[in-house]
Amino acid sequence: MHKMKAILANDGIDPEGKDILEKNGYCVYEQKMPPEEISTFINEKQVDVLIVRSATQVRRELIEACSNLKIIARAGVGTDNIDLEAAKAKNIKVLNTPGASSQSVAELVFAHMFTLARRLQLSNRFMPEKGHSDFNALKKRFSDGIELRGRTLGILGFGRIGQTVASLALGMGMRIIPYDPIVKKATVELDIIHIPENTIKIEFESQSLDELLGQSDFITLHVPKQPGGRAILGAAEFQKMKKGAYIINTSRGGLVDELALLEFLNSGYIGGAGLDVFENEPSPLPDLLKHPLVSVTPHIGGSTRDAQVRIGIELAQRIIEVYPH
Ligand code: NAD
Repeated sequence: MHKMKAILANDGIDPEGKDILEKNGYCVYEQKMPPEEISTFINEKQVDVLIVRSATQVRRELIEACSNLKIIARAGVGTDNIDLEAAKAKNIKVLNTPGASSQSVAELVFAHMFTLARRLQLSNRFMPEKGHSDFNALKKRFSDGIELRGRTLGILGFGRIGQTVASLALGMGMRIIPYDPIVKKATVELDIIHIPENTIKIEFESQSLDELLGQSDFITLHVPKQPGGRAILGAAEFQKMKKGAYIINTSRGGLVDELALLEFLNSGYIGGAGLDVFENEPSPLPDLLKHPLVSVTPHIGGSTRDAQVRIGIELAQRIIEVYPH
């Protein structure tokens, strides 16, 4: 008899994705086991596909101990937690869902930009304490914010997320300067929900990094980890920026030199920073977390309920595509 194809979702899978897989005849086990127990389970139940999020480390020992595994599927962006070489050596295919989180990250970029523009990171701290007694003083203190419309947004890295950010920025009426050494040109689409037949398309060309640094009011990073963990923005780049400009990093810790950033924030040269990612996760630099000019989130850029649903569906479809019943 034909064996039912079995899937272990060790960090869970969204119900919609699970449903698609089950309707297509796959048996899905949803469990949460430590890595040392996974291979025993996989071998006993003859699991063909292992689905993980970022929590489960799929290292060489685990991969080598699984006799039957055909696919390792990462529900999300990146495959840092999977030993790709070991998988390749055993002919195990590795899948992920690189595009499913772009909208979530792009929206968080705007959440940080709006926060910095009106200093919500501070008013949210002061209002619960002093809003009752010092309302008017706070009103005065927080009345010097800025608007995004008409401001220039430098997008460093013009791949999937960079282009999604550009689409949102178009809607906000911002000027856009992209920089990407590989993506020299890209057409950004803006879907307007009220006129679905009228998708607006605008072609952008990469400018030079110096142009981006010199002209932007906000700079947002959307690049992968650089070779050797090199920072892309450090003291030399900050000096080329407009005084008072803001920096947003939702890409990877280490892409912005954190000590240099602190120095430039303290001197008042950089207007503020929105940070979702940090050099030393999960114990970021306290001075940065507490800084009054910094808006912070705990690496949640790609993680929304909407993204989880999309990831589950996209992953289920990919599994069915590459490993049909
Ligand atoms: P992508 O591969 O589609 O785009 C990255 C772009 O960066 C590429 O076009 C590449 O040419 C460009 N690039 C590489 N080096 C560069 C450099 N030195 N200067 C300028 N451009 C450079 O990737 P993506 O899907 O847009 O993701 C971008 C980043 O976002 C990744 O680092 C990813 O890990 C991160 N990310 C974070 C979260 C989160 O939770 N905060 C979620 C998803 C993705």
